[in-house]
Amino acid sequence: MAGSGRVVYSTGKGRVCPGCGWPENDCRCSKNLTPRDEPVPAKVTAKLRVENRASDRHVTVVDGLPKNAAFVAELLAVKG
Ligand SMILES: [Zn+2]
Repeated sequence: MAGSGRVVYSTGKGRVCPGCGWPENDCRCSKNLTPRDEPVPAKVTAKLRVENRASDRHVTVVDGLPKNAAFVAELLAVKG
């Protein structure tokens, strides 16, 4: 299928992505769709809460951390 049916762009009005409004060849959606690490804010405020489970066990839940694999890995490394 390569070589046939190529999209030819014309100046002025190219194909614009309906999702982000950018030209399709410069679409910003694909970058948002792929899971990426969130930027770590200067001040991270994590919320800790302890949930009591029915099995009488206390589970500590951490909330509010940025979804950043490197940051979390570093955090876990510090905690040991
Ligand atoms: Zn888009």
